[in-house]
Amino acid sequence: MQYALVDEVRREAFPNGKGTCPTCGSAMVAKCGPRILHHWAHAGRRNCDPWWENETVWHREWKERFPESCREISHMAPDGEIHRADIKTPTGIVIEVQHSSMTDAERLSRESFYGNLVWVIDGRGFRDNFDIYHLLPDPTSDLAQDLVWSKARRHMNGSNRGLFFRPSENQDHQPGATKATLKDGWVHGIHEIEDQVNTSYRGHHQYDWVRPRKTWLDATCPVYIDFGGDSLMRLEIYDETGLRCIRMIAKRKFVHDVMVETSARAIATRFYPLPRPESAHGQLDM
Ligand SMILES: [Zn+2]
Repeated sequence: MQYALVDEVRREAFPNGKGTCPTCGSAMVAKCGPRILHHWAHAGRRNCDPWWENETVWHREWKERFPESCREISHMAPDGEIHRADIKTPTGIVIEVQHSSMTDAERLSRESFYGNLVWVIDGRGFRDNFDIYHLLPDPTSDLAQDLVWSKARRHMNGSNRGLFFRPSENQDHQPGATKATLKDGWVHGIHEIEDQVNTSYRGHHQYDWVRPRKTWLDATCPVYIDFGGDSLMRLEIYDETGLRCIRMIAKRKFVHDVMVETSARAIATRFYPLPRPESAHGQLDM
């Protein structure tokens, strides 16, 4: 853990430090070896929160994107069950940053315990199994209403570049066809509408996740994958065809929105002018 109470004050680990756990009150000792991430550990037993994951540099970097008062926040359910959220914003959104794989049962328990929860998962371990393909237009745009995309898959080199059908063109052979029911028809390539797609692009892409960690596809709370770049990939269902897509969202946008929005589902749904990076730390650059 990053924090323990020392004389009632939350403090980071320091050499030979002793403190108490802010969640359960038991003794903690500082672990400050030369080659480890400095942290606190329970002195006598396992961590009091069975959901707690050993911290990595990646966890610590995520916590440090948020004010200190948002990190490692304990929650108690009415029945006395207690857990510690990685990050909780002043507006009430809980962010769990997850490095290890997780069972469905544990994911469901955490989603129901926290409710207003968003997952940020470490994707660096499966980046080679995750292909990101062609742009998709904004699913709410007029353009998108008459497009049914062929599902992209690794080695399916047509669909990967962008193939689609139009319900409006296929009423003769499939009367009444809608986006949800049209399965085939006259095939078009994305190059025919490239300019329109570029104009209405809002970060959506087709993808294929080979050997996916299925629990994240079934999650009921929003899931963002961190592959280590400047953007997160949010897992989404694109439209009424059930097509899965990712949406790229800048980390700066995500960090801003979770501090402002009150619902985890509202993150990245609205436009806000973001502070310039130089002014993010309170320095005015005028
Ligand atoms: Zn404890």
